[in-house]
Amino acid sequence: MPELPDLEVIREYLAPRLPGATVDTAEVRRPLIVRNLLGGDPAAALVGRRFVSAERRGKFLILGLDGDVALVINPMLAGRLRYAAPLKRDRTRDALILTLDDGLELRYHDAEDMGKIYITRDLEQVPAFAGQGPEATDPGLMLEAFHERLRRHHGEIKGILTNQAFVAGIGNAYADEILWAARIYPFRRRADLSADEVAALYAAMRSVLSEAIVTLRDRVRETIDVEVRDFLAVHGKPGQPCPRCGSPVSEVKRERRATDFCRTCQPGLMVGPRRMLG
Ligand SMILES: [Zn+2]
Repeated sequence: MPELPDLEVIREYLAPRLPGATVDTAEVRRPLIVRNLLGGDPAAALVGRRFVSAERRGKFLILGLDGDVALVINPMLAGRLRYAAPLKRDRTRDALILTLDDGLELRYHDAEDMGKIYITRDLEQVPAFAGQGPEATDPGLMLEAFHERLRRHHGEIKGILTNQAFVAGIGNAYADEILWAARIYPFRRRADLSADEVAALYAAMRSVLSEAIVTLRDRVRETIDVEVRDFLAVHGKPGQPCPRCGSPVSEVKRERRATDFCRTCQPGLMVGPRRMLG
């Protein structure tokens, strides 16, 4: 699932390259993914428009077009954006293909069919966009404000970190990485965290995300459609040794979401209804 670091590096790649290119043809292969909030045919709304900007907000990529129109991409679980020479072959699960007058194409592929692309003049109309909290990397989000926002949310800390209304940009993978870096058990109740633990969580959020951006900037480059996750410490690595203590990484699966963590570095007891039921 593309998260803040993945999308930030894609934005950095597109920002100096895509603006100036005009859409020659637009092909919507999967109409359920491409939503034209202006009304009418989405392909017709795109052809002839020139890209003017590439921005990001949380887990949304915002590609500005002339006429104050934006192509807003929310890749969800598996959306991938490709900006390169046109593919010679067709792929299933390609949802939108734009050929551009710079000789390249912009192609959105989604193996899970869960992402969405919106064509809009008003970002506030995009579902789940308006309610987002500050960017997790926002320089203005200081520890005191972070702690204050945290107090308004209840439940388990991992769920709060991935709640875009708390801070924007963190999903399942980077929440695991941040909690591992902060040495906090993912299922701890927010109300049980000490001030020192909140400070550690805040510091880990900043360092994990900024270091991931540096790593991805070097690893991804033009292959923006490939998700690079092999450098993560615990996420996606159940059974492998924890890079800090060598204990095997544990995994708990709930509602299709895997949580990976180190029981030695992040001790805790799972409590609550799901254990009582089991
Ligand atoms: Zn460990």
